[in-house]
Amino acid sequence: MTAVNKVAIAGSGVAALATAIQLAKAGVEVDVFEAKPEPNVHGSGISLQGNALRVFGALGVWDDIRPAGYTFEGLNLRAPGPGAPIVVELPDVKAGGPDYPAQMGMPRPELARILLDHAQRAGANVRFGAKVTWLVQGDDHVEVFVNDESVGVYDLLVGADGLNSTVRDIIGIDVKPQPTGMGIWRSFVSRPAEVVRTELYYGGPVYIAGYTPTGEDSMYAFLVEKAQDRFGIPDHEATQIMLDESRAYDGPWNSIRADLEGGAQANYTWFTQHIVPAPWNRGHVVVIGDAAHSCPPTIAQGAAQALEDALVLTELLVDRDELDQDLWDAFHARRLPRAQSIFEASVQLGQWQLDGVRDADTGGLIFATAKQMAEPA
Ligand SMILES: Cc1cc2nc3c(=O)[nH]c(=O)nc-3n(C[C@H](O)[C@H](O)[C@H](O)COP(=O)(O)OP(=O)(O)OC[C@H]3O[C@@H](n4cnc5c(N)ncnc54)[C@H](O)[C@@H]3O)c2cc1C
Repeated sequence: MTAVNKVAIAGSGVAALATAIQLAKAGVEVDVFEAKPEPNVHGSGISLQGNALRVFGALGVWDDIRPAGYTFEGLNLRAPGPGAPIVVELPDVKAGGPDYPAQMGMPRPELARILLDHAQRAGANVRFGAKVTWLVQGDDHVEVFVNDESVGVYDLLVGADGLNSTVRDIIGIDVKPQPTGMGIWRSFVSRPAEVVRTELYYGGPVYIAGYTPTGEDSMYAFLVEKAQDRFGIPDHEATQIMLDESRAYDGPWNSIRADLEGGAQANYTWFTQHIVPAPWNRGHVVVIGDAAHSCPPTIAQGAAQALEDALVLTELLVDRDELDQDLWDAFHARRLPRAQSIFEASVQLGQWQLDGVRDADTGGLIFATAKQMAEPA
């Protein structure tokens, strides 16, 4: 017995597809509704830490994920300016335990393709161009509306529909993502042989310049700046801005600039933060992943936390016989404190990068922003 027999899922990101895989494997009837007309074929890269990789192991997808990305350990910090010297090589924590690499970079479209393939093979029905637009709750069910038409009655609707979740709005949760004040340029480029792990440059004209390997031939590069209204600018202008802001950075950035000059696209987005306080469910509807929480990717944990939400929720739904308050209490007890601590750590690191950190007693700078570093002592 499982606690649910028929489940609807809004979204087809990592939270949605991980949920679909686990429930479909357990024999639950699963309908996934994705608003976009087709699967993502474009996109940048993503860093997945050991705890995310361990979830892939539990889902049974790790053997396909591993060869599709680049695994590594450690983090290098480099200085801006000529020669881009490595100033420190930091060791890594294996957040997924000894059986998984500490880190992995991979192209986002590859991750989406593999998870979609596994969800469909497990038996989930996945519909694209299908936006969840409304729902009506009953005592023991929820009726789901897609593109304004009823698609049936379910034991549970999982709102894994991302930052601007429609499901979250419909069930009356008014916590929404807030901009943190930082914006990021990202580009998918070729990997110079010397780049074998994530490298970050603090200081210079932006808060952080960095890159993460995603394959033998690929990596994604990023520049984190003060959030600005960069939306809707033409592609060639976007690339030009990323090129201009990158000029203070030497070393592998020379190769990145060559790719940008050769036409690599640059895309822009803002960092956000929010966390829905418990409970994340209202009756037979629950929000997970970015619908429930977002954090600036300062410690690259957003997708990892979305995956953990999905794994814990499905473990409870599959192991238990009833979808009752006891199940929801167990879900929130396992997920809220962990998501909250990751949220707080990510936000704190972002705040330090924005404002710097001063010693409480002496007022001296412990962590300086680029602007503070440029100020006279
Ligand atoms: C710049 C940046 C860099 C990041 N880097 C990392 C990183 O390196 N590592 C990491 O772990 N995390 C990272 N993250 C966070 C990570 O991308 C997200 O936490 C993760 O993708 C969330 O997955 P999700 O499945 O919850 O939502 P999403 O991936 O956003 O999926 C939601 C889906 O729902 C669909 N949808 C929306 N509304 C509806 C509706 N009404 N009906 C049906 N479908 C709907 C959307 O089209 C979308 O496909 C980063 C985030 C940002 C902004």
